[in-house]
Amino acid sequence: MTTALELLRGCLKPGLTMAALLFGTATLAGWAAADLATPLAAAGWGVLVGVTGLLAHEGAHLWLARRLGGPDAARLRTSWRGLSVEAPGLHPQHSAAVALVGPLAGAAVSVGIAALTPAPVWIATAFAGVHLLNLVPVRRTDGAVALHAGCAGLVRRWDLERAQLETAQKEGATGGQ
Ligand SMILES: [Zn+2]
Repeated sequence: MTTALELLRGCLKPGLTMAALLFGTATLAGWAAADLATPLAAAGWGVLVGVTGLLAHEGAHLWLARRLGGPDAARLRTSWRGLSVEAPGLHPQHSAAVALVGPLAGAAVSVGIAALTPAPVWIATAFAGVHLLNLVPVRRTDGAVALHAGCAGLVRRWDLERAQLETAQKEGATGGQ
């Protein structure tokens, strides 16, 4: 429950930015085309799909991070430009899962809204695309975080296996003497 309230509060600033951008663009486009109703309706659906997708995306990151790492494992950072989840102390494998679940949840919810409401499919597809683009591992995307965490997890496992092997070899050597 607190997570849901935290998410809603966190969504306020980026949601208002999204609304200002979409309604601003729609007003300009409508004014140029002498038809305000169509672009404003599209902007309304855009804000609905955008904000709901953002809630699902960041909510999924936050929920899984806290489920895997405990209630203090993750916190939400909000600004006028966006919403993000920080969970620095997680195990690499958990970090990878937390990074991947956000874009998938955001895309699924965007598509789901188009299936359940009269929201235009192109708007839902565009937002789903933005969520999924986050899986491309460049710079600081969720995909990059997942790849980095996945590699760190592999290296940690190899180190552990090598240490176990060395211990077994040492034990074998002393056992043979
Ligand atoms: Zn994300």
